[in-house]
Amino acid sequence: MAVIKLESGYNIGVDPHSCTFVERPSPVPVKRLEVTPDRNLPDLSIVSTGGTIASRIDYRTGSVTSQFDAGEIVSAIPELAGVANYRTRSISTILSENMTPAIWQDLARAVSEEIRSGVSGVIITHGTDTMAYSASALSFMLDTPVPVVFVGSQRSADRPSSDNAMNAVCAASTATSDLGEVAVVMHATTNDDRCAIHRGTRVRKMHTSRRDAFRSIGIPSIGTVSYPSREVTLEPHAVRRGTHTLALHEKLEERCGLAQFYPGMAPGILTACRGYRGLVLSGTGLGHVSTGLIPLIRDLIEGGTMVVMTSQCMHGRVCDRVYDTGRDLLQAGVIEGGDMLPEVALVKLMWVLGNEKDPDNAAALMQTDLAGEWNRRSFHGL
Ligand code: GLU
Repeated sequence: MAVIKLESGYNIGVDPHSCTFVERPSPVPVKRLEVTPDRNLPDLSIVSTGGTIASRIDYRTGSVTSQFDAGEIVSAIPELAGVANYRTRSISTILSENMTPAIWQDLARAVSEEIRSGVSGVIITHGTDTMAYSASALSFMLDTPVPVVFVGSQRSADRPSSDNAMNAVCAASTATSDLGEVAVVMHATTNDDRCAIHRGTRVRKMHTSRRDAFRSIGIPSIGTVSYPSREVTLEPHAVRRGTHTLALHEKLEERCGLAQFYPGMAPGILTACRGYRGLVLSGTGLGHVSTGLIPLIRDLIEGGTMVVMTSQCMHGRVCDRVYDTGRDLLQAGVIEGGDMLPEVALVKLMWVLGNEKDPDNAAALMQTDLAGEWNRRSFHGL
């Protein structure tokens, strides 16, 4: 099926065999607004990684064009103009499933440079699929005195229901607010009335396509942005601007993995991890795998792999002291991962093993709250 983009913005599908190739249209140049900096507005930096948020559909070719400089971004989302002055830089142009730890490091370095240059906050445009991994990675790699705000869009700019403009405006408002941590800002409801601000280490994409797909897990969101008023409300547990001094710890150990247990899990999945420096298991309930796998896990640990147990349950915390399998896992040397999300524990393990060579210290760090990823006590009602 060939999809033809009509001038109205709608698509129609036609059988390609019924089409005659006439001529390839030359790309339409992107119209660029000249932006004059307003001295009364704060300066923000927009670091682009390639999501659809700040892109524009070329209606003649149907392709998505990434916008990289301030003029182009503000032309695509004119409402941004009244919020701040923008400088922009691009780290990559990828779908976020192609993100890698090496690009997290480029991103962390770029964000740190932008903050050092004196901007009031940084916005990172990112594909939604792996945004939470990247937000976690930057939460561990950066101590930030200013807001570092990830934003994306679930629906592209050519769709009437696109969430790109509202999410971008709410992200910009958050980046000028009193926040002082890494966050994700996305639609809070299916209406265009407010965005939620989520902590970078406690957020998950919970729906494939809904605009309110992102939810804070295990803690309430750290704030909201009303729309269209752009009023930012930060909750008491949000870290405030200036709490931390800028620091970059960019090392990561990439030889780490994440495996989800399932009934009947083949031992080969674990033995394939021999030689890894770290492995996060997403176990059942309080943090279990089947009894037959425990000797293999012991072998891995004895071979130098740090194994951290998390739970497939979205809420609650791991406790391996209740059932026999749990106690056997502890005896084998497994580290309990508290209430960390499995994917956050993986990113943290990469960071911890990249920065701490002593295994006992590394194990202790895995059980220490470093960036809001580990709650000592569970929030009431969550
Ligand atoms: N798979 C794409 C990504 O995560 C979806 C598009 C988007 O969310 O921007 O990059």
